Amino acid sequence: MDGWPGPAKFLSMLDPFGRKITYLRVSVTDRCDFRCTYCMAEDMTFLPKAELLSLEELDRLCSAFVAKGVRKLRLTGGEPLVRRNVMGLVRSLSRHLQTGALDELTLTTNGSQLAKYAAELKDAGVRRINVSLDTLDAAKFRGVTRWGRLEQVLEGIEAALGAGLHVKINAVALRGINEDEIETLMRWAHGKGMDFTLIETMPLGEIDADRTAQYLPLSLVRARLAQSFTLDDSDYRTGGPARYVRVAETGGRLGFITPLTHNFCESCNRVRLTCTGKLYMCLGQDDAADLRTPLRASRDDALLSTAIDEAISRKPKGHDFVIDRRRQAPAVARHMSVTGG
Ligand code: SAM
Ligand code: SF4
Repeated sequence: MDGWPGPAKFLSMLDPFGRKITYLRVSVTDRCDFRCTYCMAEDMTFLPKAELLSLEELDRLCSAFVAKGVRKLRLTGGEPLVRRNVMGLVRSLSRHLQTGALDELTLTTNGSQLAKYAAELKDAGVRRINVSLDTLDAAKFRGVTRWGRLEQVLEGIEAALGAGLHVKINAVALRGINEDEIETLMRWAHGKGMDFTLIETMPLGEIDADRTAQYLPLSLVRARLAQSFTLDDSDYRTGGPARYVRVAETGGRLGFITPLTHNFCESCNRVRLTCTGKLYMCLGQDDAADLRTPLRASRDDALLSTAIDEAISRKPKGHDFVIDRRRQAPAVARHMSVTGG
C-alpha cells in the first residue's frame, strides 16, 4: 500500500516516563588516538581487547534494537574510526537503511581518520557526521587534544565535505581556552555550510585538569554572542539534545547542548551501549544492564529482547550533574569515551 509505513514504524520502546526510545548510541571502542584534557587523563587504562564485543556481536545488538523500534544509530567512542575494520560494521548496519527500518546511521568522530574513510562512509549510506573540533589554533589544538594534529583534522573535514557528507562541528566550550574563539569557529563552520554546536563540559571520569576551571556556562556564551549576532530560535531538531538558533548574519545554525544550565532530560529518547555490551540508560547515572550475557547465551534474540525491555523499564528520569568547587569528584566515575559521547 502506498505510504504504508512498514511494521518497524509501529514498534516502539517506551520508558517509565512515557519517553519513546528511538536512538541508540554505540561506543565501538573506548580507545582513542587523542587525549583531550576534558575527556581523558593522559595515562588512561583501556579495557583489555579480550573484553570487547566482536563487530559481529555489535551488529547483532544494534540490529536487535532496530527490530525493537530504534530509528537512529550513532557510532561513537573513544574514536570510532580507530577500531579495526569498523567500516565492516558500518557497511553491514547500512542494510537497515536500505530496508527502511532505520532512518539514520551516523557517527561522531575527532576527524583524524576522515581523509581515509569519508568517501567510504558516504558510499555506505552515512549522510551526516559530527566532527569534534574545539579550536582552529594549531598550538591550542595540540594543548587540548594532547596528541592531535589540527592539520590532519582539517584535511579530514575537507574530505568529508568533498565526499558530500553533511558535517556538524561540535566544540566543548572551555573557559580560558576557546572562550575567545567561539565567534571565529562559528563563522568558519557556517562559512563552509556546516552547523556548529557548543557543548558544556560534563563531570564524567577522572581527568588531570580541573573541571571547575574549564567549565563555561553556555548561557553566558549565548548572551555574549547575542551582543554581535541576531540569534533566532529555531525548532530544528536532529533527534539529539541540542537546541538550535539560526544566526541571521551568517545564515548558519548554532546549537547549544546544555546539560548543566538547562536540563534536557524530559525529552530524552536515547540509550547508550558500550563496546563490552553494557547498556547505560542515562549518560549521567551509574545504572547499566549487561546485554553481553543474554547475547551470548543463545543464538536467537529472545533473551536479549527481554533484557533490553527490562533495561528500558529502568531508565531514570534524568541526571544530576553539578560542577562546583565543593564537589570535586566527578558525578560519574566512567569517562565519556566509555559510554560514548
Ligand atoms: N572521539 C570522538 C570525538 O571526539 O568526537 C567521539 C567520542 S567523544 C567522547 C564525543 C564527544 O564528547 C566529543 O564532542 C567530545 O568533545 C565530547 N566530550 C568528551 N568528554 C566530555 C565531557 N567531559 N563533557 C562534555 N563533552 C565531552
Ligand atoms: Fe578521544 Fe573524542 Fe575523548 Fe577527545 S573527546 S579524547 S577525541 S574520545
